[in-house]
Amino acid sequence: MTKEHTQKKLIDRFGRQVEYVRLSVTDRCDLRCFYCMPKSHKEFQAPAHWLDTGEIERVIRAFTTLGTRRVRITGGEPLTRHDLTGLVQRLAALPMLEDLSLSTNAIRLEKFATPLRQAGIQRINVSLDTLDAVKFKQITQGKLDKVIRGLMAAKEAGFQPIKINMVVMQGINDHEVLEMVDFCAEHGFTLRFIETMPMGETGRNAQNHYISLHRIKARLARRYTLIPDIMPGGGPARYVRITGTDTKIGFITPISQHFCDTCNRVRLSVDGTLYMCLGQNHRFALRPLLRQGISDEALQQAITQAIDLKPERHEFTEKPSQVVRFMSMTGG
Ligand code: SAM
Ligand code: SF4
Repeated sequence: MTKEHTQKKLIDRFGRQVEYVRLSVTDRCDLRCFYCMPKSHKEFQAPAHWLDTGEIERVIRAFTTLGTRRVRITGGEPLTRHDLTGLVQRLAALPMLEDLSLSTNAIRLEKFATPLRQAGIQRINVSLDTLDAVKFKQITQGKLDKVIRGLMAAKEAGFQPIKINMVVMQGINDHEVLEMVDFCAEHGFTLRFIETMPMGETGRNAQNHYISLHRIKARLARRYTLIPDIMPGGGPARYVRITGTDTKIGFITPISQHFCDTCNRVRLSVDGTLYMCLGQNHRFALRPLLRQGISDEALQQAITQAIDLKPERHEFTEKPSQVVRFMSMTGG
């Protein structure tokens, strides 16, 4: 690593260092979680617009030269992308990338857990909102048993930690939080609760089921003694541990207690657009530059310029209608 590389950093207008990229490798998905993507949704990016493996590798390499050390692959559902394992191998080989992780719905994980681990994924997050197969079908249109098999395969493959992300919704699954804690404790998973966000029409409709995680935490505290804890990984979750166990529980509270002042990330969508904030529309198109043959140096300059667009904070509460894209388009 050269001295120049160690010194470069991406600092935004508000003094925050951007050192984490969420990489969406597809906007497609094999589920239809009602708070994310409409059942009938078919308007996906054309394959000609997808960044290919070489283009993604170039952009991520440029980010690592500018101080990024962590990348999380997401989507849409990343496991629906056929060249994912090869892409993971290429990214894992980038010398300055220290942490490569994946978010998945786990529908295809039974088959891909071991190949992805061998290719270089270090940590894995799985979305799971319920342990009730009928409810799972209602929320996602998919089959719970596939997810459970995928999770067990991830455990078998040696991923550590495995984090379960549960979007908590009043009147839908909020009564299941204790059951989910028990499930995660039994399997050694870390559990993270997430508040619904008004992203796109789907996310806005889901706000009817919004529940502040402060209430969920209070509910847990009646049953367990919770000790504040930390978890490496650069995320916004605030963690507690259940006393006398290793089970950690994280609370991701974009609505009730936002964490924008410590935001360290940007998102690259499958079509090569950099999104500066989940809850705002500031963006920068990299694909045209990549396809015009931009140099590595100019690519780094373009990324630095893009970071100047990063807004101070989201406005989910003040302007809940302003983000029309679904979470699956930007990569959650
Ligand atoms: N398909 C993968 C998955 O489900 O884990 C990765 C992409 S998904 C968009 C990433 C995360 O966004 C999931 O944990 C999902 O629950 C969350 N998500 C989607 N729409 C949301 C919304 N409106 N509010 C809060 N979280 C949302
Ligand atoms: Fe697909 Fe993930 Fe969105 Fe569910 S949350 S529809 S699994 S992208």
